[in-house]
This record gives sequence, structure tokens and C-alpha cells, in this order.
Amino acid sequence: MPDRIYNFSPGPATLPYSVLEEAAVDIVNFKNKGIGLIELSHRSKEFMAVADKTEALIRELLEVPNNYKVLFLQGGASSQFYTIPMNLLGGGKKATYLNTGTWAKKAIKEAKLFGDIDVPFSSEEASFNRVPRHDEYTVNQESEYLYFVSNNTIYGTQFHEMPTADTMLISDMSSDIMSRPLDVSKFGIIYAGAQKNMGPAGVTIVIIRDDLLDRAPENTPTMLRYKTHADKGSMFNTPPCFSIYCVGRVMQWLKDLGGLKVMEKMNLEKATLLYNAIDATDFYRGHAEKESRSLMNISFNLPTPELEKQFIAEAEQIGLNGLKGHRSIGGCRASIYNAFPKEGVEKLVHFMEKFAKDNG
Ligand SMILES: *Cc1c(COP(=O)(O)O)cnc(C)c1O
Repeated sequence: MPDRIYNFSPGPATLPYSVLEEAAVDIVNFKNKGIGLIELSHRSKEFMAVADKTEALIRELLEVPNNYKVLFLQGGASSQFYTIPMNLLGGGKKATYLNTGTWAKKAIKEAKLFGDIDVPFSSEEASFNRVPRHDEYTVNQESEYLYFVSNNTIYGTQFHEMPTADTMLISDMSSDIMSRPLDVSKFGIIYAGAQKNMGPAGVTIVIIRDDLLDRAPENTPTMLRYKTHADKGSMFNTPPCFSIYCVGRVMQWLKDLGGLKVMEKMNLEKATLLYNAIDATDFYRGHAEKESRSLMNISFNLPTPELEKQFIAEAEQIGLNGLKGHRSIGGCRASIYNAFPKEGVEKLVHFMEKFAKDNG
């Protein structure tokens, strides 16, 4: 392996090195067929096999029930903010949203274009430093669904137990899908942009229960109907072939490691190292309240913005990159998704100890 930096970027993010190597070979000459992967027709039997394999691995890892479709869509996770209410609401229908961060807020804004939206919980006043407990909100009886963001990428908060509701759940899992086992049957729709925990940018994975495919109002454009893509196996138009291929290779890597239970354990180990380093001194302050702490994105502050700037610059000099926090809350953020190596976390922890000693 060449010298690589440790990339703490929130997304696009670190991928398994073995997947990068495989992709580099296949782009030029796919399985020795004399044609590059990204030159293949999406309707060729070679590419159809790639897409089928990617879907099969996603189904296997998440134990997706048979009455769900797995779709490969474009437009990023952000396009789901309007596609979901466009397909499921309209005609005065209601839905409930939990406001736990920027991505939730953006989804709420779009949903209001299509339905009557109830927001019984918001942590905005405390700069989104936590997610709610079950007893902190009630879901309107007439809600078609309860929408939440399972992991709040910017603030570093995460639902450690999924919300419960009499109605179906819909979740944006862009930054923690495949990081732990999941009971898909509780959900109507789960979706995630690939570029955080599954692959490169370009594809959004949508897992949708069959009975929701037929609900779109008549004036819904063809491309924006889930049914259009479900009926054609995500091949109604040209899908993002390269991203689908990469997601498949990442899923295979995950499976070879032992699947989601093993991954969850590894993620907990990595995050614990970092949180222990934050809690060890008053020099560092975690942004999230303890019960809401994310295993994927760890947002923290130093005593002053000047020290934060120095911290980020010095870290970069020793190959620890992408530690700058999101512009909305500042500070630092370490994103340590599935593929982020434990050695990188250990190196950051050592650096943090030394930096606090030198500057505290
Ligand atoms: C990054 C992110 C998004 C936005 O994804 P795009 O693919 O850029 O639209 C949405 N939700 C969450 C939770 C994210 O982390």
C-alpha cells in the first residue's frame, strides 16, 4: 500500500483500500474482458450481473424482507427529501418529523410542500446536541409515517434505539447505514446516499416496502415515482453504474469481515477510543450529549477557535486530514465510518493527548 493519509472527511469518505485497488483494475479492464467497467452498457449481461450482485449483498447484510425493493437512484440523498412526501403525501395527508439537525430540517422544509407536517421534537435551540428519548414526543395518530435521521452527520448524534410509533418509520440513514444490524421490517422506507458509508458519490440506495409503490398522486412525474424504478429494476434509465459497482465491492468487503454485528463491534471500539480521549481532559469538549453520541461522526471543541485552527493544521502535517467541523457549528469533527482504520483513530488519540499537554 502506498503512503496514505488518514481521511476523517464526512463524505465522500474513506473506502476500503482493497476496493480502490479492485476498482482501479476493473475500470481499465473489467474481468479481463478487454473492456473497461465504466464503458460497459448498463444493459450488458456483465453489468446486469454487477447490479444483481450488489443488490443481493445489500439484502443479505441487512436481511431485507422479500416484500421490500432495493432501488439504485440518483440525485443524492437530498432528492429523497421531496421524493418521499411527493409519493406518500398530498391531499392533506399528515406526517411527523423529528428535527435533529440540518438534514432533518431540510427534509421538513420539502415535506411541507406536500403535506401537513407535525414536528413534535426539535433540539435546534441546543444546536442539535441530542436526539429525543421515546417519551419526549408523540406521533400524531393520523400520520402516514414518522421520519427521522438515524445519524446526524454534522452534530455527531445518533439514535441508539430506533424510535417507535404505531405508524411506519422512514429514515435517512445516509451516514450510518450498514454500521450495525437493523430490523428493516419496522420501516416503510430507508434511504442513504452511498458516499458516507457505502461507496463513492452518485448512487442513493432506497429500500422501500412494496405496498408504498402505488401511492403516488397521478400528477407525479415518471422519474420521481418509486414505482417507475421498482418496475424496471432501477434500469428505467441509465443508473450510476460505477457507484453501484463500488457499493457492491464494499458490501463484499463487509461480508468478508463478518457482516454487520462484527462491524458494529468494531465501530464501538473505534468511537470509544476517541470519546475516552475527549473525556480524559477538560481541554476537549464533545458536542453531543453522552446518550446521543454517534459512533460515526465525533464532533468536539477545543478551548478557543484559535486552538482549533492550530489543532487542525498540526494534525494535517502528520497525515490526519479532514478534521475541520461543519461550518454550521465549527470546531472539529472526526468521521470514522466502517472503512476508517482503527490505527488512524489511535494516531489521532495520541496526537490529541500530546496537543492538550503542549497547549492546555
Ligand atoms: C450527507 C447527508 C445528506 C445529503 O446527501 P447528498 O447525497 O449530498 O444529497 C443527507 N442526509 C444525511 C444524514 C447526510 O449525512
